[in-house]
Amino acid sequence: MTTILCVSALLAAGTVVAKDVVIHAGTLIDGVSATARQQVSILIRDEKIVGIEPGYTSPAGAEVIDLSKATVMPGLIDCHVHISGKLPSRTNATEYWLTHSALDRAFDGAMFARQMLQQGFTSARDVGGGEETVALRNAIDAGKVPGPRLWVALEALGPTAGHGDPRSGLDPDLSHTGWENSIVDTPEEARLRVREHKRRGANLIKIMPSGGIASTGDDPHQQLMTNDEMRVAVETAHSLGMKVAAHIYPAAAIENAVRAGVDSVEHGSFATAETFALMKAHGTYLVPTLSVFDVYYVAARDHPELLTPGTAQKELANDLLPKKNFPLAVKSGVKIAYGTDLGEGDHAMEFGLMIANGLSPMEAILAATRNAADLIGASDRIGSIQAGHYADIVATEGDPLRDASAFQRISFVMKGGVVNRFDRAPAAAAAE
Ligand SMILES: [Zn+2]
Repeated sequence: MTTILCVSALLAAGTVVAKDVVIHAGTLIDGVSATARQQVSILIRDEKIVGIEPGYTSPAGAEVIDLSKATVMPGLIDCHVHISGKLPSRTNATEYWLTHSALDRAFDGAMFARQMLQQGFTSARDVGGGEETVALRNAIDAGKVPGPRLWVALEALGPTAGHGDPRSGLDPDLSHTGWENSIVDTPEEARLRVREHKRRGANLIKIMPSGGIASTGDDPHQQLMTNDEMRVAVETAHSLGMKVAAHIYPAAAIENAVRAGVDSVEHGSFATAETFALMKAHGTYLVPTLSVFDVYYVAARDHPELLTPGTAQKELANDLLPKKNFPLAVKSGVKIAYGTDLGEGDHAMEFGLMIANGLSPMEAILAATRNAADLIGASDRIGSIQAGHYADIVATEGDPLRDASAFQRISFVMKGGVVNRFDRAPAAAAAE
């Protein structure tokens, strides 16, 4: 009687009995070790991993998840997404931008976030979006919609007429309340915008020191922010506990941004061996985003009418250069973190591109797990399978160390101890 009372008192107080789960992993790539292990048990209590043991153990009361025929990895992390962004091959970019509110984009983002999670991505950095990205992060954290854990930058900061200026190419008389959120033309404006972003819910800052490719009127070969603007943006962000991601192509601009203290160079496509050596010396990450260049090259070739006006020529002239330059980055030993630059779309495609252009499969996995978690600043809770970390765990029936397409066949996704996907072979499912 006393026991029953105790249990009901606990339930009434909202206390939930701990849930124990054990995963039997046929092959385990833990996101720390350089080699895979065979036949390992991962012990999970509620949302956290509590232990890793050799062999298949089945503690009393624990639910067993049989992944003995699969390769088990930490939840994957995409460090460069635009969670509410559409694929350029399906929707006209300008039409979408002018006909969808932040609320509309939030619903699109919710759909893409769910798809990302199904693809095995349990965490992501959104490096350029509007207030819908903050709302999505909060809704995902609260368990209202499924999706990866998100770190969001809000609007990417850059100068008037730069890569992040929403007015470029539009009728100059058009205006929108949010369009000034990305503009910094002085160091003082950089300081103010970083602080405003913090107030509006950002947990990192993105800057646009150089021009870009998928934008009207700017030149990806030019540095457009001043060194002082970059320095003040970085100092202010760091003083508020936020990291800084910097979209940059040209070598000289990358070197200036590295000296200004940015934490990662996004794209970095026109870097030289000297640039990568400087990044390595400063510990600056490269997030190469080979995926987006493939996607946009095909769009520019097959559907130029869907791109932002005047950008198809820029895409065709520049989008093949990043892959050409990537082996130089690999050779330099610069730290690489995984990033696609996609919202809608196949977030696993970057694995195949990085591996085909010089990274080993294990290095590619570490880029999307250990390194990505380190760049985000969350290595103590995500990015590897070890005790004390969130139970963010994925599996594929294929062998990702031999076949890059295995990353596109993720069959099991657990985030924070909750199973979001589990495709079992028909025979196994029928036997239950
Ligand atoms: Zn981007």
